Amino acid sequence: MHPDMRPRFDVVVLGGGPAGTAAAMRLARAGAKTLLAHRPPRRPARHAETVILAGAALPGLPALPSYGVQSSWGGPALLDHDFITTIPSAAMAGLRWHVDRPALDARLRAEAEAAGACLQPVTTVRWARRPGGWQVEMEETAGLRIIEAGWLVDCTGRGAHLARSQGAQRIVGDRLAAFSVRLGPIPAGVLEQRTRLEAVRDGWWYLAPVPPDGAALTFLTDGDLAAARAARTAAGLATLLTGTRHMQGWVAALGCPLAGPVQAAPAGMAWLANAAGDGWLAAGDAALAGDPLGGQGVAQARALGEQAGATLLQDGPARAAALADYQAHLSRRAATYRRLLRQVYSAEWRWPEAPFWARRAVAPCPE
Ligand SMILES: Cc1cc2nc3c(=O)[nH]c(=O)nc-3n(C[C@H](O)[C@H](O)[C@H](O)COP(=O)(O)OP(=O)(O)OC[C@H]3O[C@@H](n4cnc5c(N)ncnc54)[C@H](O)[C@@H]3O)c2cc1C
Repeated sequence: MHPDMRPRFDVVVLGGGPAGTAAAMRLARAGAKTLLAHRPPRRPARHAETVILAGAALPGLPALPSYGVQSSWGGPALLDHDFITTIPSAAMAGLRWHVDRPALDARLRAEAEAAGACLQPVTTVRWARRPGGWQVEMEETAGLRIIEAGWLVDCTGRGAHLARSQGAQRIVGDRLAAFSVRLGPIPAGVLEQRTRLEAVRDGWWYLAPVPPDGAALTFLTDGDLAAARAARTAAGLATLLTGTRHMQGWVAALGCPLAGPVQAAPAGMAWLANAAGDGWLAAGDAALAGDPLGGQGVAQARALGEQAGATLLQDGPARAAALADYQAHLSRRAATYRRLLRQVYSAEWRWPEAPFWARRAVAPCPE
């Protein structure tokens, strides 16, 4: 097909996770001709997620309100952080949810489509810069589809595929890796609707529900440490678990054996030195991925996706100013996040000589 005859979109958003769906929704609602190209994850994540979802519609979704966090961090005693009494009104008690992420993401994609975005499931996407825009080739079940686009938004998650293809530098702040196993099904009433967290010499553990009737146990350590090698199998994780004071009891109470595949995933902080370039910008984890300790990745991805969409809705010089604001906002956010993270990690003082904690207490983050 001649390029002039190809369908043209104002914006193509790559990635149908929290960031991509928020960007597509913002753009489509404002009338921009938007295509959301979604490639399903190759390996669905096995860790549990507790998300802040202000304004998102949850009816019918497998999701459980989360009532708090119980943690052993900075000492052997257990501390309770209760979401019910620490937030201002009972009406907001459901703000944090234990979710089934694939179901949540499917719901968010349906919402973007309802807002007017064209949802395109793909297996592979290729892009090439052309004068005045982009040519985007998408492999789909029906064959190859080629379209033209004015802008591309990279919401491809930690891979930041588009941004990196355009030469953007991705800065990796640390080597944190997550090793996760699923547990369940768990009989009703056994699993509490809160997150359990424990710091240990080589990192930290968390256990949280995965609706409707499961849970996930995750161990986080640095990928280059011996503990990371041990954590790659269920048997290795079970051995590491015997070194915990609380977590082994919490897991034992669920009555499920630690079995099944262990999924390893990068979980450290990473960000782009430049989150926007000639005809593209990045949002969500592609632009700034946080440490799971913050528990805010989905909310942050949604906020950045919205902001990226709003930026592209500007015209002419206003858009150039909005792009500069977007980059400045991201840089400030990354700096604040790193400072707060270091404070939280520094609160754990029991193993100052252990590499995992020594790195977090003293190592300066790359700028
Ligand atoms: C161990 C762990 C625990 C976490 N716990 C929490 C938690 O409790 N609460 C919380 O809020 N956050 C948590 N997070 C963070 C959260 O998962 C992310 O911040 C969030 O998913 C980022 O959303 P995103 O849309 O930017 O990227 P993603 O969710 O990664 O979505 C990117 C999408 O793009 C697709 N894609 C990739 N490449 C392409 C391509 N070339 N073309 C088209 N599509 C593509 C992917 O398949 C994927 O669907 C956790 C993360 C980890 C690692």
